[in-house]
Amino acid sequence: MTDPAPRGTRIAHIGLAVSDLDQILPFYRDILGMPEVPLDDADGARIAGLAAGNSLVELLEAKSSESPIGKYVAKRGPGIHHICFSVDDLDGTLARCKAFGIRVIDETPRLGAEGKRIAFLHPASTAGVLVELSEY
Ligand code: ZN
Repeated sequence: MTDPAPRGTRIAHIGLAVSDLDQILPFYRDILGMPEVPLDDADGARIAGLAAGNSLVELLEAKSSESPIGKYVAKRGPGIHHICFSVDDLDGTLARCKAFGIRVIDETPRLGAEGKRIAFLHPASTAGVLVELSEY
C-alpha cells in the first residue's frame, strides 16, 4: 500500500473525559450542532465522536474506575484529557520526540481505536498536555 499524500500535522481529535456521556452528549450534538460519528470503545472507555470540521471531539466515559479515564476522572474530575495530532510519519515523529528528550508513554506505536497506529507522549514533557500522535 502506498502512503497517502502528506497532509501536515493537524488536530485529529480532542479527548474529553466525562463522567456521564449521555448527559453531556446533547450539548455538543444538539446545541452546538456537531454531527455524531460512530466510534468503537477503546482503552476501557465508551466513546462518542462529534465532528468539528475535519477534527473530532471525543467524549470519553470510563466503563470502570480502573480504566485510564476512570482514574483520571477520579483524580481530576471531568475535563480535557488529551489532544491527538495526526502526523504524516508517526515513526519519524516519535524518533524525533525521543531525540529531543520528550518522555514517551508508548516507546513504539501501538494500535488504537479504529485500527490507527498511535503513540502517547508524557504530559511532563509537553507542558502538561497529554499528547497522542496518530497516523492519518
Ligand atoms: Zn485519543
